[in-house]
Amino acid sequence: MALVPGIELLRRAYEEGYAVGSFNINNMEILQAILQAAEEEKSPVMIQTSQGAIKYAGAAYLAAMVKAGAEQVSVPVALHLDHGDDWKVALQCLRYGWTSLMYDGSHLPLEENIRETRRVVEMAHAVGVSVEGELGRISGVEEQVAVSEREAFFTDPEEAEIFVRETGVDYLAVSIGTAHGLYKGKPDLDFPRLEEIQRRVKIPIVLHGGSGVPEDQIKKAISLGVAKINIDTELRQAFLKTMREKLEENPNQLDPRKVLGPGRDAMVAVVKEKMRLFGSSGKAR
Ligand SMILES: [Zn+2]
Repeated sequence: MALVPGIELLRRAYEEGYAVGSFNINNMEILQAILQAAEEEKSPVMIQTSQGAIKYAGAAYLAAMVKAGAEQVSVPVALHLDHGDDWKVALQCLRYGWTSLMYDGSHLPLEENIRETRRVVEMAHAVGVSVEGELGRISGVEEQVAVSEREAFFTDPEEAEIFVRETGVDYLAVSIGTAHGLYKGKPDLDFPRLEEIQRRVKIPIVLHGGSGVPEDQIKKAISLGVAKINIDTELRQAFLKTMREKLEENPNQLDPRKVLGPGRDAMVAVVKEKMRLFGSSGKAR
C-alpha cells in the first residue's frame, strides 16, 4: 500500500481502543523486521525516524526504502518524524513524503512551543500530513533526577488543553512518567494525570519511552486514550544482542548477512509481541 497519513491510523485506534506501535528505524533490516511483523499480525504500523537517523541514512534513502517496503505489504503504514525540533527538517520530510511529523518544542516556554508547533502544523496540514506535538519533558533514564524533580516536567493538563487548542496538533506526546532508554527500576505512570489530560484534549495521546513499561500499565494507558506507543530500545537490544552472539560464535565471519539476518529475525519477534500487547493485531484494513 501507499503510505497513509498518521492520523488515519491513530483516529481508528483511538476510537476502537487500541494503540499503534511506532518503531524507530535506522537501516533496511530494522524496517524489514517491522514490516514483516506487521504483515504477519495484520496490524497497522508507524515507522519513525529521528533526526539522527535522517542524518545517518539520508532522508531520500529512508523515504525511498519505506515507500518500497510499504508497497510490498497489505497493511497500512505511516512514515513519521520522531522528535523533530527544526522546521527545516520538517519541511525536508514533507518534500520526501513523510506522512506524519513530530515537532518537539517541549524545551521551549509554552508560548514559544505553541508558536513553533503551529508553524509546523500549518505547513504539514497544507499537504495532508498530520502532526504530533509535545508538552512536558520526557527525560532520558540516564538523566539522574529525583522523582519530585521529575514530576516538575510532567505535562500540566490545563496547559495541554490550551496547547492543543492553539496549535491544532493531531496527537499529543505527554510526560507522565515514562523515559527514553532503559529503565533502572519499574516505571510508575501517573494515570490520574493522563485521565485529566485526555478529558481536556480529547485527541490521541502518544506515549514515548514505551520499551520496558509493564504490560498492565500499557493496557491501562491505552484505556485512557493512548493510541500511539513509541518503541526503540527493545528493538536495538534484540538486534545487537543477536548480532553480537553471531559474531562471537564465528569471529571470522565474512558474510554480513549471516549476522544481520538473524538480528532481523530477532526483531520480528519483538515487534509482533508489541502489536499483540497494544491490541493492533488483526486491525489492518
Ligand atoms: Zn521520544
